[in-house]
Amino acid sequence: MNIITTVVGSYPTHTHKAQTFNEKISYSLGLFDPYKQAIVNAVTNFVECDIDIICDGQVREDMVKIFASKIFGFKIIDNTAHIKGKITPAARGISSKDLHFAFKTAKSLDNRFQLNASLDKIYAHQQRGIKGIITGPTTIVHSSIIDHFYSSKKNAIFDIAKALSYEARELEKSGACAIQIDEPFISTGAEDIEVSKTAVEYISNSVNIPVILHVCGDLKDVLEDLLKFDVDILDFEFSGMPQNIKTLKKAWTPECNKQIGIGCLNTKLESVDDESDVRKTVTDVCKIIDKENLLIDPDCGMRMLDDDIARGKLEVIQSIRNNGV
Ligand SMILES: [Zn+2]
Repeated sequence: MNIITTVVGSYPTHTHKAQTFNEKISYSLGLFDPYKQAIVNAVTNFVECDIDIICDGQVREDMVKIFASKIFGFKIIDNTAHIKGKITPAARGISSKDLHFAFKTAKSLDNRFQLNASLDKIYAHQQRGIKGIITGPTTIVHSSIIDHFYSSKKNAIFDIAKALSYEARELEKSGACAIQIDEPFISTGAEDIEVSKTAVEYISNSVNIPVILHVCGDLKDVLEDLLKFDVDILDFEFSGMPQNIKTLKKAWTPECNKQIGIGCLNTKLESVDDESDVRKTVTDVCKIIDKENLLIDPDCGMRMLDDDIARGKLEVIQSIRNNGV
């Protein structure tokens, strides 16, 4: 059995103050980027823990604002995204630069990192890759306030899907091995699932690399529909949401050709998970989906954890990756 690892997204962030002479000069010129060191820190931890598909650590702003601050039609007021007009793509790729910087950092530590790495070669442990992460259309619209232009959330969701498909293509061009779409709002039932599906598929059909759809929370009411979404990998939380294992058992059929990303580290637990618990989560899901290749990762976001706890958690999935289940 081949096991590979990935991270869902956010990693503990500390903005870095200008310290060295060069940094201080950059700072005085308005060119100093306080998040660069946070990307280096996240990526170094990922590489040292044998994470096969890394990301830039999502260290900038929150998952909505990072896109709403750049896509046309939005305005951030008092920390909330407001939709003020027709939504159209950002002037350039929003996270391409960070993806490239994270890739360069990873490559300098481990030569197996490749731009546009192939999933087959990653499963064979011959290559490692970096994925681009996009916050999904349903989640962005349901986290924003519509002030003008749209009379329904549905049309705003479709326009943002178009804007995000541009971002997905830019990330693909920058060397991403996959695109991950984060849609925590889908499991809340806040939106008609057919609307969410159309929007996600608009993005997934616009790129030629694998697409991962990450949906957190309790999947009871949505899993059957999610299994029909046209994406390659569905990534779910199973550790902090053990009921999702039962739900998966009920909905899964041998015809399901999707890969499941097994969230097996409880990110709400503020200590390092017990390896035997993590192993049990993986084997429980594994029995249901019956795959030769496994993809394991933490449950949602690690941003709120202490550095050493986040690192300790990654070392647990590193051990499972390297020693099997
Ligand atoms: Zn999540």
